[in-house]
Amino acid sequence: MNKADKKKMPVLFVGHGSPMNMILDNDFTRSLIRWGKALPRPKAIMVISAHWLSKGTRVASGDKPEMIYDFSGFPKELYNFKYACPGASEFARQIQASSADLIECDHVRGLDHAAYAVLKYMFPAADIPVFEVSLDYLFNQWEPKPLRYHYGLAQRFVDLRTQGVLIMASGNMVHNLSQIEYDIETPVYDWALKLDEKMKEKLSHEDHAYLIDILNHEKNAALAIPTLDHYLPMIYALGLQEKGESLKFMYEGIQNGSISMRSFQIG
Ligand code: ZN
Repeated sequence: MNKADKKKMPVLFVGHGSPMNMILDNDFTRSLIRWGKALPRPKAIMVISAHWLSKGTRVASGDKPEMIYDFSGFPKELYNFKYACPGASEFARQIQASSADLIECDHVRGLDHAAYAVLKYMFPAADIPVFEVSLDYLFNQWEPKPLRYHYGLAQRFVDLRTQGVLIMASGNMVHNLSQIEYDIETPVYDWALKLDEKMKEKLSHEDHAYLIDILNHEKNAALAIPTLDHYLPMIYALGLQEKGESLKFMYEGIQNGSISMRSFQIG
């Protein structure tokens, strides 16, 4: 292994937002194109998906991930899109084997839009193996494991960074579907903007404890995070941040009035 191989891959958190971004040329999608060009080429990409909720943690170990169109009522063009990347079964099996107490392989699971809606811009050639990891969200029906559990679990993936795997957590820090407007460019709700700014401040100060416990600190947090599915991927990104490791914001903005598209890179 040469010196360059030992270098740690960055960890990304991407706010993916509405599937409509798949067919739009806007500030956000242009930022993804620039971001993808600036990244080192990974051996594989592991996507921690807000759209894969399971009992226990699962890791996709198929060789040819199928497309999962996990949204309804959108233009036909979205359902015809294909991201024909290979899977990364060796990395998936390696993760499962190193955490056999907590993680199971899933040979069937393909890619949902938390992955391909972003990858189509960042890695348009679709020639890098991709595999997804689920969120342990159903351990008691629709109750996720506590945030601190997910933060700790993320640390089990840390070795992948020196093996050339790009870890991409895909969710949205502020995400309230019951309050969204169909128009992406609609005026932003004040509470959404304030929470997003607060999260920015806490991310800038590496205040993980606050972000893990945000629902107890901020009175509007329940509006911004009515369910944890889109917030949890960010907690994984934080779990992978080394003390003092740089964090830079790659995009900031709010779409549909109540969806923060804030995205960042660690390392
Ligand atoms: Zn989503």
